[in-house]
Amino acid sequence: LSPVPSDIEISRAQTPKPVDQLAQEIGLLQEETEAYGRTKAKVRLSLLDRLREQPDGKYVLVAGITPTPLGEGKSTVVIGLVQALSAHLKLNSFACLRQPSQGPTFGVKGGAAGGGYAQVIPMEEFNLHLTGDIHAITAANNLVAAAIDARMLHEATQTDKVTVMSQFGAIVISQWRVMPSECRVVLKMILTSQSVTFELNFLLCLFKTIIKLNLRKVHTQFDIAVASEIMAILALADGLGDMKTRLGRMVVGSSRSGQPITAEDLGVSGALAVLMKDAIKPTLMQTLEGSPVFVHAGPFANIAHGNSSVLADKLALKLVGEDGFVVTEAGFGADIGMEKFFNIKCRASGLRPNVVVLVATVRALKMHGGGPNVSAGSPLPREYIDENLSLVTKGCSSNLRKQIQIAHLFGVPVVVALNVFKTDTQAEIDLVCQMAKESGAADAVPCHHWARGGRGSVDLAQAVKQASSQPSHFQFLYSQETPIVEKIRMIAQKVYGADDIELSPEAQAKIDYYNQQGYGKLPICMAKTHLSLSHLPEKKGTPTGFTLPIRDIRASIGAGFIYPLVGTMSTMPGLPTRPCFYDIDLDPVTEEITGLF
Ligand code: ADP
Repeated sequence: LSPVPSDIEISRAQTPKPVDQLAQEIGLLQEETEAYGRTKAKVRLSLLDRLREQPDGKYVLVAGITPTPLGEGKSTVVIGLVQALSAHLKLNSFACLRQPSQGPTFGVKGGAAGGGYAQVIPMEEFNLHLTGDIHAITAANNLVAAAIDARMLHEATQTDKVTVMSQFGAIVISQWRVMPSECRVVLKMILTSQSVTFELNFLLCLFKTIIKLNLRKVHTQFDIAVASEIMAILALADGLGDMKTRLGRMVVGSSRSGQPITAEDLGVSGALAVLMKDAIKPTLMQTLEGSPVFVHAGPFANIAHGNSSVLADKLALKLVGEDGFVVTEAGFGADIGMEKFFNIKCRASGLRPNVVVLVATVRALKMHGGGPNVSAGSPLPREYIDENLSLVTKGCSSNLRKQIQIAHLFGVPVVVALNVFKTDTQAEIDLVCQMAKESGAADAVPCHHWARGGRGSVDLAQAVKQASSQPSHFQFLYSQETPIVEKIRMIAQKVYGADDIELSPEAQAKIDYYNQQGYGKLPICMAKTHLSLSHLPEKKGTPTGFTLPIRDIRASIGAGFIYPLVGTMSTMPGLPTRPCFYDIDLDPVTEEITGLF
């Protein structure tokens, strides 16, 4: 329709096919699915054994230029591309998406099911609880926190018990509590007898525990659930056994003598596996045009690795078969989500991508080219409405070129997908495509999936098919053996364009400790702003002449990475001045949800 109706109107106007019909169409046996209502089903991991001999399909990663408040539309590109490949080119294909976090859904974003005629449906189910995976992760994280508190309490009163935990005197806890929403007030707590001044009721039970703990000093903080180590484990595990081992390996604190204490030491790893046993199965849904989608693992590629799960990708690659395509999404810009996809996820999975699709928009390129900043909800300045080839040129020669070069560092061909907005002019569209090719992209095509669905992305599908037949010379940016500091420096210099890195004394001390503990071979998961290639969100384009400050560093031993915190980056995002939850409502008679988009 023109004008294009709202996302929720489009979603509601389409009746999804029953999930058992979808499962049958893609070759699943009845016993391989567990339906959650009419339109969602968990897929059992036994499928991997059944399809072990089946060759994998082509593996396509969708990444983007550096995001701006104007939006790039990566999820819509993933869905539009899969709709074009399956419904229009008649090739088996699958989209692998991450489950949206309650934080952005009720905060700035209002949902993440794609948009226009490229969406996952039903969008309300996709955007809200889905099949409960994030709740299971929250429960598991908080069980670890409760297990630590309980052991400290009981060992404080039963001094005759000698266990590894009796060394817990001056404890350092590295396993934080988590919340599914954004809430900065609980970001960091050092709970002592003097600091019991919080007014929030839901923290009272925690204080009581602390008081019973003889007013020991306990450092703790809240992170957002989707960025927790358990979410990363879910995304990187390659089976139930591997997930259980990783959960047990999580270092939850260190003893007085400096020895790491794991979830296994706490005796909680079996219980964690029980809480997570269903979350490890990807959830099957569909696009507006009936193509299959796996929804699994979570977003936040800035503070986590933020990729969909290894298991969803592996299952999908088997299901589509040799001539098919799996399109998976990495969060934010190529410098953040794609770098972690390659260096962390591909290292864990052993999978190698054939093509990178790099999403750009004319509006975002104009901002990278020097266009004015825009705050959410305010009217768009003229620069983003009228033709402005000079800003487009500057944006292409800075941010777009740099992000293409980053993908090339890994040896994978790049197709630029220009997500067309109605304000884009033909001259602007042609200019972006021409400059993308001059910057080394194998192809660059305008996409109209938002306004036209899969048929608006047929050119992109053809370009991806063509590029996937080219040889991909995939390589990691660094080897496992490279020392931790050198790995961080390589990411900072080669990917972000920094002159060098600067380590705080705290970060340096922790690196020394991690090296002593034998964690030096782990890959790196940078926690950095997604809004700039640098650590300074306001620096658009391709910033140069900066030194990347590493404020602190953590280790996620179960997930399997070292986790530097760059600049002022926080692991608990805050809600905006006017969060989306103001507009989200329920009609008690029809049970219809409003306000999601
Ligand atoms: P990202 O994955 O980059 O965060 P999404 O695909 O989730 O972005 O899209 C964000 C929002 O932008 C959605 O509401 C979507 O409807 C809107 N959007 C995406 N592409 C277009 C477009 N070409 N024209 C208008 N709106 C768009």
